[in-house]
Amino acid sequence: MKRRILATTIAVLAVGAAWVLWPRQVLVLIVLDTTRADAAHGPWIDDLRARSTVFTHALSTSSWTAPATASIFTGLYPTEHGVIGGFRAQQRAAGKEVELTDPAIDLQGLPAGVETLPERLHAAGWRTYGVAANINIGPELGFDRGFDALHRDRNADAGDLLIRLAGWLLLAGPGRPTFLYVHLNDAHHPYRIRRPWFLEPGDAGAQDRAKYDSEIASMDHALSRFTSGLAWWGEPAIALVSDHGEAFGEHGQHGHVFTLHGEVNDVAMIIHRPGNSPARVEFPVSLIDIAPTVLDMAGLDATGSLLRGVDPTRTLFAHRASPTKATTLWTVNQGPWKLLLEEGAARPPTLYDVAADPGETTDIAGDHPDRVEAFLADLTAFQARTGYRGPSVEVELDPALVEHLTLLGYVE
Ligand SMILES: [Zn+2]
Repeated sequence: MKRRILATTIAVLAVGAAWVLWPRQVLVLIVLDTTRADAAHGPWIDDLRARSTVFTHALSTSSWTAPATASIFTGLYPTEHGVIGGFRAQQRAAGKEVELTDPAIDLQGLPAGVETLPERLHAAGWRTYGVAANINIGPELGFDRGFDALHRDRNADAGDLLIRLAGWLLLAGPGRPTFLYVHLNDAHHPYRIRRPWFLEPGDAGAQDRAKYDSEIASMDHALSRFTSGLAWWGEPAIALVSDHGEAFGEHGQHGHVFTLHGEVNDVAMIIHRPGNSPARVEFPVSLIDIAPTVLDMAGLDATGSLLRGVDPTRTLFAHRASPTKATTLWTVNQGPWKLLLEEGAARPPTLYDVAADPGETTDIAGDHPDRVEAFLADLTAFQARTGYRGPSVEVELDPALVEHLTLLGYVE
């Protein structure tokens, strides 16, 4: 009896010691939904930026959550992974097809033949946990693939989600490297007043922007608390991006529905590895670079990783199918140049030098006809080699979901 008690005590102590002392590799992918590149600031984010490789000219592949996040998960453009519809309830709404009595919609999910980032990590033995507050990020479109657990709560703020994630991490115990995906939706419309960060604007017209900035500050605060808890596991590797930005009147737009100007197409991108030296990268990079870079951070595969150097003169693209019209927005980016085209519309393409004109206020297409020609040829070649459409899935919209989509601006 005494020996059994002794053996049990030793076993408990050994497990406890292993639990405390076992080195844990933790890799966190943070997606700040709707957070403009120029608004991604706060004490925690700025401190992370000062300790990391910062990409100052990072581009989304689209202007909204489902296609952009699918690019983060696959390293593919929207026309390659096929997630271009998402919860496009607004399209049906425009055609008066959303009826609460028959609210099913067709969606394009992640293609079965493509291994997502969580699937690759999971197959390599990593634990994979995710939390998300955006309605698009769930099992309907295949975003749960490869996760030991993906919790989606469309009403949860950053603090709620991160407490759940911390709980899973504590229960998981020692042993295996762990991937954490954190998709925070606080900055998405409808904006709330978040105290104590809300600063009353002098101009009543700036209320929305002041609320939005307070949402970002509250995410920053929640991330600060979460990562200081993580420090117990050792310093985590962190990839922080936004999926797209948000317009506050620029180019006559509000929100992020149908524009690919910089206020929506530019994103935050910060890559941190324990012990790295801070660096700044100013040439254009894209959300398609995140999956290869995270796999490199995990020590699995360095192919295409931003940390191994990529061609700074690459041509990059973005895509946004109109929710209401038969037109598609495209961008072609190379160096400081940006071409913007609404395919299917009568308007000619516009060209910007975003180094000299970051607000994209002056169309210089007329001064550079050869460059416009070359970019249009690049786009045609790109369209010819992509164009995959993923599998269609039908999703039942219950009235509560339609109400939520309306609140987000997805149903007009
Ligand atoms: Zn989004």
